[in-house]
Amino acid sequence: MAGYDYDLFVIGGGSGGVRAARMAAALGKRVGIAEEYRFGGTCVIRGCVPKKLYVYASQFPEHFAYAAGYGWTVPQASFDWQTLVANKDREISRLEAIYRKNVQGAGGETFQSRAMLVDPHVVHLLGDDRTVTADQILIATGSRPAPHPALPGHEHCIFSNEAFDLKELPKAIMIEGGGYIAVEFANIFHGLGVDTTLVYRGKEILSRFDMDLRRMLHETMEKKGIKILCHAVSEWVRKRPDGRLDAVVTGGKVLTVDQVMLAIGRLPNTEDMGLEGLGIEMTRTGAIHVDQYSRTSIDNIWAIGDVTNRVQLTPVAIHEAMCFVETAFKGNPTAPDHETIATAVFSQPEIGTVGLSEDEAIKRFAEVEVYRASFRPMRNTLSGRDEKMLMKLVVDGASKKVLGAHILGPDAGEMAQLLGIPLKAGLTKDDFDRTMAVHPTAAEELVTMYKPTYRVRDGERA
Ligand code: NDP
Repeated sequence: MAGYDYDLFVIGGGSGGVRAARMAAALGKRVGIAEEYRFGGTCVIRGCVPKKLYVYASQFPEHFAYAAGYGWTVPQASFDWQTLVANKDREISRLEAIYRKNVQGAGGETFQSRAMLVDPHVVHLLGDDRTVTADQILIATGSRPAPHPALPGHEHCIFSNEAFDLKELPKAIMIEGGGYIAVEFANIFHGLGVDTTLVYRGKEILSRFDMDLRRMLHETMEKKGIKILCHAVSEWVRKRPDGRLDAVVTGGKVLTVDQVMLAIGRLPNTEDMGLEGLGIEMTRTGAIHVDQYSRTSIDNIWAIGDVTNRVQLTPVAIHEAMCFVETAFKGNPTAPDHETIATAVFSQPEIGTVGLSEDEAIKRFAEVEVYRASFRPMRNTLSGRDEKMLMKLVVDGASKKVLGAHILGPDAGEMAQLLGIPLKAGLTKDDFDRTMAVHPTAAEELVTMYKPTYRVRDGERA
């Protein structure tokens, strides 16, 4: 639209926003994108990427410990937290520059500024004290860690954002929550030698996953030395005279730690952006309400990613961005597909999962077949390590369609990515059975579990 400065203005330079800006610019659209903090957003700057680097760092002690069985003598190893943080910083700065360059390379204009909506076609850039106009506006401002104002002493607590950049590695940490972030960080800190306690309000960690994986991960984490308190919450946190923290949890137990980290979910970033003034409809959870095409209640304003609180995952935000560009700029209305999303929890051992858990499948299908294998992966044999791997397929007894695939063990995330394809394609157990195994691998179990371990008919195990 010639009357506006831009065909598209994007607010938020994270995974979703940058992808939309880049794709639209590559179509020849005039695109501007504003980011108030750092391009790359949560995933690159203080989420998935640094997390995975820290997971790698935290795995070395186990590699060292188990090398002896393979004939290696490893001298006393030592770890330097500051080196890890500095190297991580260098890597994310490199990625941040690539994100920015990708938009600019496609012809988009980047702004380092907070942005506010003043009118359906007008954005105020606070950093530059400048106003720009756009035909279409995309909000992709992401989310932030949920605070816990009801917890006395919450001001002494940290969130995942701060955990990446602590000045010193704590000697002891308490982590509250039982979701992705709490579980991943509990394993990271434990691996780096920190005395770690996980405090979770429910009966078993990772409430949205298959129960078998949850139980086995819990047991394995405890065997390694991570303390897990279920049915518990922190009741208050107090600073001690020596600078450490006392955290009191349900039942009166006092944990003396150096850091308390809260990982109790994430809230959409919608504040102070002018959304209320424009009358943009919000959901009950404070997210931006969008239709199936990611359009808000105002026709030319769209929203994608965590700010819409549909599925808070980076690849989902990127997919929503691509669908938005198809819809808004290519005349091809495309609704994002949120069904059967493969996902991984980078715990140690890792979880990789796609599709329905056994419990979910039982609720929806009259007969469910469960194929389950639990075994010691080959790499654990000579090392003398007794950690087991779990693989599970959940199958509809009537159609033989594979409804869910769940893995706990080394490289489970990589396997989940590949399993996402047959499950998305709706393949059956017969298709799995017809597939030749790759030997010797752990993944071959997925195509060699010929007989169901058990069946569940009308909710009862047969
Ligand atoms: P999750 O939603 O995964 O977990 C939040 C946890 O906090 C749950 O265990 C929840 O309990 C608990 N909780 C919620 N409110 C309270 C409260 N008031 N007091 C005590 N406990 C509470 O959120 P995360 O913060 O772990 O992660 C946010 C999102 O980021 C995830 O949903 C995920 O989509 C994404 N993410 C993805 C990763 C990946 O792909 N590997 C890694 C990290 C994050 P309950 O179960 O009872 O509700």
